[in-house]
Amino acid sequence: MTMSVAWREETTQIGEVLRQSEKVLILEHEKPDGDSIGAGLGLALGMLFLGKNAILLSQDPHPSTYDFLPGRHLHIVVSDMKSEYGPFDAVVFLDCADRARAGAAVEFAKGDIVINIDHHVTNSMFGDINLVDPGASSTSELVFYLLKTMQVPITRNIAICLYTGIISDTGAFRYENTTSRTFAVASHLVDAGADPSRIANQLYECRTASFLLLLGKALQTLSLHHDGKVASVEITREMIRDAGSSFQETDGIVDYPRSIEGVEVALCFKERPDGIGVDVSFRSKCRVDVSKIAEALGGGGHPRAAGATITGSMEEAKDKVFSLLSKEQI
Ligand code: AMP
Ligand code: MN
Ligand code: MN
Repeated sequence: MTMSVAWREETTQIGEVLRQSEKVLILEHEKPDGDSIGAGLGLALGMLFLGKNAILLSQDPHPSTYDFLPGRHLHIVVSDMKSEYGPFDAVVFLDCADRARAGAAVEFAKGDIVINIDHHVTNSMFGDINLVDPGASSTSELVFYLLKTMQVPITRNIAICLYTGIISDTGAFRYENTTSRTFAVASHLVDAGADPSRIANQLYECRTASFLLLLGKALQTLSLHHDGKVASVEITREMIRDAGSSFQETDGIVDYPRSIEGVEVALCFKERPDGIGVDVSFRSKCRVDVSKIAEALGGGGHPRAAGATITGSMEEAKDKVFSLLSKEQI
């Protein structure tokens, strides 16, 4: 596959650093999603192929949805991490717009060289080497090019991980970040052994009953604002408990208010289990840049999918978000 991309130099530099490294620490963002998990496991498996000692670390566990992915033995959570596992020759941040996005995993991010691989437009370029392309569908797409540059064979296991990352971040090729390059990479991954129907089945047809119960409760809170252009749902700790569900299962619920005809901005307010406050998921369809709104609240993300944590109660969080939204042209 020929690479006509702007960052050939960065991939080459990263490839050289990783080839020279013995111990590599790979970090995902807090509450890891399909892209950070797919990119993380794909890169960790690539490092294993090169005979490296690679650890994939995250603050929070992987949701059980991703249990089907290969390479899980390379992943640990911060509570199981030991400082003796280091020091590392290279630390790779994946899908993190800034260092803080890795949460408590940052404590172990001590290495000779910091590599930053990401596709957020808000990325602060915090690495010694930055492979950052907001035009990429996902971090998994960038990891694919990195492994190709390094001439690491894309094994079936690596392909399954990277394909999962790509379809997670593109909503199975539905969102605006889907480009012909995304399909080219996906095609290559399918040739390498990723099975689209099996992976889609794992991601979209293996829901738990508790997720559906929680979704039902969340949808009962649906409210429309700004002449039906903004749709909002909320999820309290009590609702999660009553549904026998978990905070992780709130992922994806924001897609339902977004799916309403005429809605431009969708919001999902989620009370955090740690009591710190409320996580807000923002989605937009085609005009409003929700990453700006999320940034104004101390969060970040992409123009069409962003998030922020707001300290305080559900009512306080809603007040803050709706007062910012009322200033937006929606
Ligand atoms: P979510 O609504 O949690 O699925 O998040 C959507 C996107 O927003 C994620 O893929 C991240 O890019 C970004 N994001 C979510 N929460 C935060 C946060 N607290 N800080 C920065 N970016 C975030
Ligand atoms: Mn992510
Ligand atoms: Mn991503």
